[in-house]
Amino acid sequence: MSVDIECVVIGAGVVGLAVARALALSGREVIVVEAGEGIGVGISSRNSEVIHAGIYYPSGSLKARLCVEGKQRLYAFCDERGVEYQRLGKLIVATDEDQRAALQRLMAQGLSNGVDDLQWLDAAEARALEPELSCVAALWSPSTGIVDSHGLMLALQGDAEAAGASVAFHTPLLAARCIEQGFELQMGGVQPMTLSCRELINSAGLSAPEVASRISGLPHQYVPEARLCKGSYFSFSGRAPFRHLVYPAPESAGLGVHMTLDLGGQARFGPDVEWVDHIDYRVDPRRADGFYQAIRRYWPGLPDDSLQPAYSGIRPKITGPTEPAADFIISGPTQHGAPGLVNLFGIESPGLTSCLALAERVLAEIR
Ligand SMILES: Cc1cc2nc3c(=O)[nH]c(=O)nc-3n(C[C@H](O)[C@H](O)[C@H](O)COP(=O)(O)OP(=O)(O)OC[C@H]3O[C@@H](n4cnc5c(N)ncnc54)[C@H](O)[C@@H]3O)c2cc1C
Repeated sequence: MSVDIECVVIGAGVVGLAVARALALSGREVIVVEAGEGIGVGISSRNSEVIHAGIYYPSGSLKARLCVEGKQRLYAFCDERGVEYQRLGKLIVATDEDQRAALQRLMAQGLSNGVDDLQWLDAAEARALEPELSCVAALWSPSTGIVDSHGLMLALQGDAEAAGASVAFHTPLLAARCIEQGFELQMGGVQPMTLSCRELINSAGLSAPEVASRISGLPHQYVPEARLCKGSYFSFSGRAPFRHLVYPAPESAGLGVHMTLDLGGQARFGPDVEWVDHIDYRVDPRRADGFYQAIRRYWPGLPDDSLQPAYSGIRPKITGPTEPAADFIISGPTQHGAPGLVNLFGIESPGLTSCLALAERVLAEIR
C-alpha cells in the first residue's frame, strides 16, 4: 500500500503531539506515526512532570528561551483545555555554606533568562515554608508547578485530531529516503506501507538519532550520537511533610535528587544519574542507599525504610558524561539543506515544559 500525505510526524510523545497539533492548526494534513501501542510510551511518561521555570539553562540557549516561553504557553493551554496542574512553587536549597555561591549564580542565571519572580530566602524564611527542611539558604521559584502529563498529551492529541490530524499506532518508521519533492518512508508494523510526504518531523525521542540515520540522503554530520542517561525514582511511603517541590543545588547531568509531589500529594524522589548503554527501565533497589544520603542532606528527618523503587526514565543525551550539557537541537533545512525535514535531538528536560514552544519553532523551520 502507498499513501501520500503532506506532513508526517514520527513519535507520539508530548513533543510529537504538540508539533502535530501546531502543524494541523496551520492547515496542514498530518499523520503521526508511532511505533508503540499508544501515546506517551517513551520519555513523556517517565519524568518528573514538573513545569520548570527556566532557571538553570545558559543565557540565550534554546532550553532557556523555550522553557520560559513554554511555561507560559503551557499554563495557558492547561487553563483553556482543562488539563490538571498545580502551581506549587519550588525551593532550591543550599545545604552548606559551600553551596551558597552556587545558589547565587543560579539566581543570576534565572534573572538573565527572564525568570523574574525568584526570591532569595534565608534559612528561617525557607523553614517557614517547609518546617522539616535543613538548609542555609534557598531560592523560591513560585512559577514552578506540576502537570498531569498524560492529560496534557490527550489534550494535544484531541486538538490535533479536531484539526484533521490522525495518529497511527504500531507503525514504526523503518527507513526513509529523500525524493524529488519530499520523502518516501517505509513503515513497518501490522500494516506495512510506503508513505510519501513533503514535510517530515523526527520527534522520536531516544531513537531520534537512529531514525535520522535511516534517512538516506541526510549526511551523517547532521546526526549526533545518542547517549543514554538513566534516572531512577523512589516513592515515599506515607505522607511527606512538604507542600512545595524541593530541589538540591544542581548536579552535572541532572538537577539532583529532588522531591516532587504528584497531583494527589504523594511524594517521590529522583531522578539520580546513571549513564547506561541500553534501555532497561527496571529500578535497582540497591540505588536506595544513594537516595537516603542525598535526601537527608535537605531532609534529615527522612525515616529509615521509607523509600520504595518506583520507576525510571532515560534522558536522550547527545553529549557524554565528561562533556558540557548540550542544548536542544532543532535541525531544520537551514542546517542540513533538506527542505521539509526537521530532526529534534537531545529533547531532555525541560522538554515537557517546552513542548508548545518547541512546536512553534518546528513550524517556523519549515514555513
Ligand atoms: C528522568 C527524566 C525526568 C524529566 N523530567 C522533566 C520535567 O520534570 N519537566 C520537563 O519539562 N521535562 C522533563 N523531562 C524531559 C521530558 O520528559 C522530555 O523532554 C519529553 O518527554 C520528550 O518528549 P518526546 O516526545 O520528544 O519523546 P518521547 O516521549 O520519548 O516520544 C518519542 C516517541 O517516538 C516513538 N518512536 C521511536 N522510534 C520510532 C520509530 N522508528 N517509528 C515511530 N515511532 C518511534 C517512541 O515510541 C515514543 O513514543 C524529563 C526527562 C527524563 C528522562
